[in-house]
Amino acid sequence: YMAKKHRNTSRLYSPSMNEMPYKETALEAGLLPALENGQFLLYYQPKVNIQSGKIYGAEALIRWKHPEFGIVSPLDFIPLAEKTGFIIPLGEWVLRAACKQLKQWDGQGLHDLTVSVNLSMIQFQQKHLVHTIEQIISEEGVDPRRIELELTESIFMDNPGDTLRILHALRLLGVRLSLDDFGTGYSSLSYLQSIPIQYLKLDKTFIHDIVNDYRKQMIFKSLIVIAHNLNMEVVTEGVETAEELAIIKSHQCDSVQGYLYSPPVPPDRFEELYKQQIA
Ligand code: C2E
Ligand code: MG
Ligand code: MG
Ligand code: MG
Repeated sequence: YMAKKHRNTSRLYSPSMNEMPYKETALEAGLLPALENGQFLLYYQPKVNIQSGKIYGAEALIRWKHPEFGIVSPLDFIPLAEKTGFIIPLGEWVLRAACKQLKQWDGQGLHDLTVSVNLSMIQFQQKHLVHTIEQIISEEGVDPRRIELELTESIFMDNPGDTLRILHALRLLGVRLSLDDFGTGYSSLSYLQSIPIQYLKLDKTFIHDIVNDYRKQMIFKSLIVIAHNLNMEVVTEGVETAEELAIIKSHQCDSVQGYLYSPPVPPDRFEELYKQQIA
């Protein structure tokens, strides 16, 4: 009885501190100061066209250079930013930083690249999302057709009708849309009927072990046919081996992103990778 009473009492004073591990608490509290102090950075992972073998774009992936914990993965802090609503200003920072990088690359001879950024489902619950995106892209002076927004099916959970309207409005801006992580969770073919996307990104769990799994290969092959018939291009994520590449190439996948070519890297390393392929 005493122990229970004690637990309840302490809960009154600090409801979250007792339940959240130290690191999580520290990360959550540190989000805003980190943005103000420039501790967030973007890494870029090349997207490679399978036929030409050339880099045509990059996915921007956020990192947190934390004074205590070192480089922190987005998997550890994006959920916290979503929970607190901080993902809204953070997402705006990501888009702006990616636009600036694109302009810089244009000036350095890395021409015609596209850059993709990930949008959280929380950003879709925001009234002004389309306007904010339009404003950032135009302020940075970037051609919207060179910006790709990566979305996941989670954006349809709340209010599919609103979500569809937002996607159509984004398309009118000229930005490209891609459906990320397809094949995880409750992936449903019914979404593909209605959403105005140009790219379907097959999740890495799809090609994991595909080399030894004939049924996986057949599903993969069939999905590519479906996507192509719907005028979508297919990007396979998480390609790590030459054997995996050979299989997805044989099924006419359009492009790949994976450790086989490169993990996400800082901008200067991305520039080296780009220049190496020309030399
Ligand atoms: P995602 O958008 O699906 O990004 C792909 C993730 O797969 C990246 O992890 C990338 O490093 C990893 N990956 C790429 N190729 C391979 C491979 O060959 N093998 C393996 N094992 N992994 C590979 P990362 O950078 O840790 O990002 C994780 C997730 O965090 C992203 O998944 C995305 O959902 C989220 N995220 C990252 N940056 C942002 C952001 O700026 N905003 C939002 N809202 N979410 C972000
Ligand atoms: Mg992504
Ligand atoms: Mg993904
Ligand atoms: Mg993801």
